Amino acid sequence: MTVRVRYAPSPTGEPHVGNIRTALWSWLHARHHGGVFFVRIEDTDQTRLVPGSADRILESLRWLGMDWDEGPDKGGPFAPYTQSQRLPLYQAAAARLIASFDAYRCFCSSARLEELRNEQRANHQPPGYDGHCSTLLPDEAEARAVIGEPSVVRFRMPDEGATSFTDLLRGEITVENATLDDFVILKSDGFPTYHLAHVVDDHEMQVTHVSRGDEWIPSAPRHVRLFEALGYEVPVYVHTSVILGPDGGKLSKRHGAKAVLEYAQDGYLPDALFNFLAITGWAPDGTTEIMTRDEAIAAFDFAQLNAHPATFDVPKLDWMNGMYLRALPVPVLAEHFAVWLERTLPADVPRPLDRAFVEEITPLVRERVKLLADVTPLVDFFFASDPTPAKADTLLGKPYASRPEVAVATLHAAATALEGIDAWEADAIETALRGAAEATGEKVGDLFMLCRVAVTGKAVTPPLFETMAIVGEETSLARLRAAARVAATE
Ligand code: GLU
Repeated sequence: MTVRVRYAPSPTGEPHVGNIRTALWSWLHARHHGGVFFVRIEDTDQTRLVPGSADRILESLRWLGMDWDEGPDKGGPFAPYTQSQRLPLYQAAAARLIASFDAYRCFCSSARLEELRNEQRANHQPPGYDGHCSTLLPDEAEARAVIGEPSVVRFRMPDEGATSFTDLLRGEITVENATLDDFVILKSDGFPTYHLAHVVDDHEMQVTHVSRGDEWIPSAPRHVRLFEALGYEVPVYVHTSVILGPDGGKLSKRHGAKAVLEYAQDGYLPDALFNFLAITGWAPDGTTEIMTRDEAIAAFDFAQLNAHPATFDVPKLDWMNGMYLRALPVPVLAEHFAVWLERTLPADVPRPLDRAFVEEITPLVRERVKLLADVTPLVDFFFASDPTPAKADTLLGKPYASRPEVAVATLHAAATALEGIDAWEADAIETALRGAAEATGEKVGDLFMLCRVAVTGKAVTPPLFETMAIVGEETSLARLRAAARVAATE
């Protein structure tokens, strides 16, 4: 039998990382077994729809490199893949359940249900429908519906016994039927609830494994009952655990969790986020963390997933992103940098950036970058026309704050030493500056820092000599002399 798994998001907002990780594991399962991974949009709760959300969900999958074989945008043998376009199927299933006495029409008003809830609360009883309409004669109920009285359809749960199902990660789970009320499967507007819609679709679309968040465990017995009442085979269940924040609380923005596309915005590589999500709650052999997609596909097994909540570890994600960035060949990394820099450098820097130039500076910073976002402050001075600090105190720092005249002399000495070199290359620049330190009696580190701030405008930069080599002779010398003028104003 072909493995068929689905990602069934509700288009109610941006997909968050926990939701996408469950989809990612399903994708790995499908690819591992040479099966089918498809997307189904579950938009039956019309009150919660967020315009544009379905597109963003597909865009998130695309960015992460999770391709789907069937879906709302590409069709497939069981199209349509958007539930609001499949209403007759659910209505027919509900009618079938009414006919078999597994479901009934309920005419209770929202006011009555509200009153019931209040009463239950006051008596410290669990909430749930009291079966008020379950004894209506089917013909009578049908007659009331035909003349237009609003109704929902409820599934009839047995009062006695228990319902069991097997979860691949958690073993057999059994729930007493008495704890489950007669739940709504079709709403008064003719739309199904999630319970009915996904059961019908998982059957129609021949889903073999249902992998979804563990918040659905309490509802699973209802779904098992529905599958059985409709004469469908129950799929294999895999209820994945949640991802928690490092403080053990519900994962949120405050823990650094974002919508998937925000990671793209913030300079993460899709391969890194993919790898990170794959291993958040899954340790294939207990130690391996960095895995290519193909390695993850080869190793994946639902049964190995951790049934306990995983922790969202932002430092690990950042570390992983750095690993992925550094592993890229220089020209590829340079292209990432160029695109990022074009987005983030000041508006007065002309675009497009010279790709050859970006490739030249890439090796200087690749070891220092964890996120693409780190690159801009490290290299922006390469693109600035005049990065010399306007303020003398930035330039002078501690060693020269009380003796600016020494800084002036040192900067001139450095410039003069540099003027004498034959080839403007890192080694020669270093030799000249060391010579200047010796000649002036300044500490080598102090002189280097003075020159660094003079040439780049900042104290933290890529390696100084390589940087000056790329900045060029004329510009470097001009900036040293300009910095001397700034220091002289103190
Ligand atoms: N639409 C449901 C949700 O987004 C799907 C759950 C499932 O995978 O069955 O939570």
